[in-house]
Amino acid sequence: MMSARSDVLIVGASAAGLATAESLRRRGFTGTVRLVGEEPHPPYDRPPLSKQVLLGTWDAGRTVLRPPADLACQGIEVLPGRRAVAVDTGRREVTLADGTRLGYGDLVLATGLTPRRLPAFEGVAGVHTLRTLDDVRRLRAALAAARRLAVIGAGVLGCEIAATGRALGLEVTVIDPAPVPMADRLGAGTGLRLAALHREHGVRLLTGTKAEAPVTAGGRVTAVVTSQGPVPADAVVIAVGSLPATDWLRGSGLPLDDGIVCDARCRAADHVYAAGDVARWWHPGQGRTVRLENRSNAAEQALAVADNILGADRAYTPVPYFWTDQHGVRVQIFGDPAAGDHLRVTEGDPDSGPFTAVAEAGGRPVGVIGWNSPRGARRARHLLTDA
Ligand SMILES: Cc1cc2nc3c(=O)[nH]c(=O)nc-3n(C[C@H](O)[C@H](O)[C@H](O)COP(=O)(O)OP(=O)(O)OC[C@H]3O[C@@H](n4cnc5c(N)ncnc54)[C@H](O)[C@@H]3O)c2cc1C
Repeated sequence: MMSARSDVLIVGASAAGLATAESLRRRGFTGTVRLVGEEPHPPYDRPPLSKQVLLGTWDAGRTVLRPPADLACQGIEVLPGRRAVAVDTGRREVTLADGTRLGYGDLVLATGLTPRRLPAFEGVAGVHTLRTLDDVRRLRAALAAARRLAVIGAGVLGCEIAATGRALGLEVTVIDPAPVPMADRLGAGTGLRLAALHREHGVRLLTGTKAEAPVTAGGRVTAVVTSQGPVPADAVVIAVGSLPATDWLRGSGLPLDDGIVCDARCRAADHVYAAGDVARWWHPGQGRTVRLENRSNAAEQALAVADNILGADRAYTPVPYFWTDQHGVRVQIFGDPAAGDHLRVTEGDPDSGPFTAVAEAGGRPVGVIGWNSPRGARRARHLLTDA
């Protein structure tokens, strides 16, 4: 099969892959840059999928990050609908599913995540996951015909889908074995505030509850069996986390351990880098490897990778940041508030409205939370870098 060479070959044509390509161009890189993506769409943004797109206030076109014509103008070649199946780091070559071989000078791996599945629910009609544009199209059509939605998993994604489901007028039940929603990202205190918000908006929140199996009729889901009894549902979303999309790298010799393991410069091997949700890198500030699943990391890590491809030798040491929108509340999180056991409110009142809080561990700030409080959160953010 045909073989072609790129100076920089990027696998994964989404937030991190696109940002790497564009950063290279912005920094004046004139070599060939090629983006290979499994999905048939131009690079698009995922955060609106569980919010505006699922709700129907945005059509899919608004999520496009860069139209193909803009990419062509920048001299970035995109190969959509092409899956990479193997990499040979010795020959510096990636093989695609159709047998095409693509050589590279430098390779960037930005393949993101795939949703974790629950075997008992596999193949049952009415059961969904949400990661891609095609997923949201299917889910939106299903919700238009549904009355009762069960969401399995009270993490960020599950909570957002529950909020959107309520805005669509559905009866929504969220099922999770953990006692508090999103506690692993927010800490227990803010997680409890979030639980109250969901209940105020009519979400039935079954925490401390395990989803066991679907009940079906004619192959379609009609309920979810849980440790607290059956939950009737004509649509089910499984939102129980995701796994790094590294299956295709098994046997490549690249270090894999819940992500592609990289050094502080986001380098997994000679001439091989990783960026975005799939990358686990050594964070010198934290003295451990870190993998982040959020939109700003995808963009920022891509910049570090582009710089390092161009010879900057730059360690990547971000302050983690993500946001989530639920029931009209924007929660912004800097750092790792879940690591702190003490919350110090710096502005506002958590019981009644917007607030900013600093999570502290051993007297040191480890995270900042803004609850409908963008300015307060930005004001407090410096505590993390000054700590
Ligand atoms: C529904 C949803 C809502 C979100 N909301 C928020 C939010 O509110 N705030 C926030 O901070 N973050 C949010 N995120 C997370 C954010 O979208 C991700 O962190 C970001 O998309 C990561 O970008 P990425 O480029 O690393 O990976 P991805 O966006 O996952 O892109 C990886 C791409 O690689 C492709 N690929 C995988 N394997 C191969 C292969 N072998 N060959 C070729 N291509 C391949 C995939 O098809 C995919 O297109 C949300 C995510 C989702 C799914």
